[in-house]
Amino acid sequence: MSISPLMPVYPRCEVRPVRGEHCHLISEDGTRYLDFAAGIAVNLLGHSHLGLIGAIQQQAATLMHVSNLYGSPQQERLARRLVESTFADTVFFTNSGAEAVEAAIKTARAYHQAGGDPQRFELITFDQAFHGRTMATISASNQDKMHKGFVPLLPGFRYVEFDDLAAAEAAIGPQTAGFLVEPIQGEGGVRVASPAFLRGLRELADAHDLLLVLDEVQTGVARTGTLYAYEHYGIEPDILATAKGIGGGFPLGACLATEKAARGMTFGAHGSTYGGNPLAMAAGNAVLDAIADDDLLAEVRSNGERLRSRLEQFIGNYPELFEEVRGLGLMLGLRMKGEPRPFMQHLRDRHQLLTVAAGDRTLRLLPPLVIGEAEIDEFFERLSAAAADYRLPEPA
Ligand SMILES: *Cc1c(COP(=O)(O)O)cnc(C)c1O
Repeated sequence: MSISPLMPVYPRCEVRPVRGEHCHLISEDGTRYLDFAAGIAVNLLGHSHLGLIGAIQQQAATLMHVSNLYGSPQQERLARRLVESTFADTVFFTNSGAEAVEAAIKTARAYHQAGGDPQRFELITFDQAFHGRTMATISASNQDKMHKGFVPLLPGFRYVEFDDLAAAEAAIGPQTAGFLVEPIQGEGGVRVASPAFLRGLRELADAHDLLLVLDEVQTGVARTGTLYAYEHYGIEPDILATAKGIGGGFPLGACLATEKAARGMTFGAHGSTYGGNPLAMAAGNAVLDAIADDDLLAEVRSNGERLRSRLEQFIGNYPELFEEVRGLGLMLGLRMKGEPRPFMQHLRDRHQLLTVAAGDRTLRLLPPLVIGEAEIDEFFERLSAAAADYRLPEPA
């Protein structure tokens, strides 16, 4: 047998974290890394947040799991808080981002089927989107590398260019159910949708009775400096998928919808064994407490701006390496002149700074939202040292 016990679908690196302290990870061999990846936008309170730990410990000792066949005061509380602070009227809890997007896709289809329009099942989605790894969510993305080996895809998705409103409008037909879009593409390369694009999609949706479905799995939960990124655009979606940061590291996602958009989601329409379990709800409530209590949103905005302006200055010193700074709040991207992976590895292996590579030649910076001056200074020390001793890979 030559296959590893762990199915080899991830190209895992040598770093083997076993402990986390605030914004640092400590590996098996004791090396300390500054974590500007945060589990890919997940550990938004860092790694040892006492409020989050305490909430999970206490709930674990009280009640970990019950079936959704029973009433859930824990889910009702978190759902009410999400409804009160967003566009939504109703919430379905999931265990992951892909499941939240799946629930969003089903909600959009069911809206039209409940309205007597079963032919309207197609979602218009966008070039370089990432929505997860289930069959429906890979089908929603035009990235061939995620399709290889898994065809046939699920029908009902039509891809057009990201941030191209005219292309989106031209793609609308009698089968269109709505748009599914990330306000800022994460895995696609921290590509920020223009205000004209998202507002235009909202107007098209209103004009044609289509649903605007936002995938805020990465942009959500204060990452960009507002609770959800749509707030920057002055629009509201009909349906929204959230996950990653919402559990602060505990698996949790949710599909949020308006009452109107959820009209097809009636008794028996959808379900999940684990979705909304009390342990996940405790984590979600603790994350929302932290965001509310610490005035974290204002800090994310000011630290995001500080990081961004220092990055813009910094890249001017290395025009052969970097092209542009992108993003919003603490979801930032450094667009590079070449492939970002070798530099990401250099940062990690030589300078103990963790970042995430993304599409469109972009290095993602997704620090915990609780970073302060000290972590920003440490970040620039490590980044400067790395840029100074980096040798560009030989052209192949
Ligand atoms: C990570 C991500 C997903 C998938 O989330 P999982 O929890 O990995 O299933 C979906 N959409 C976006 C925008 C993401 O960043």
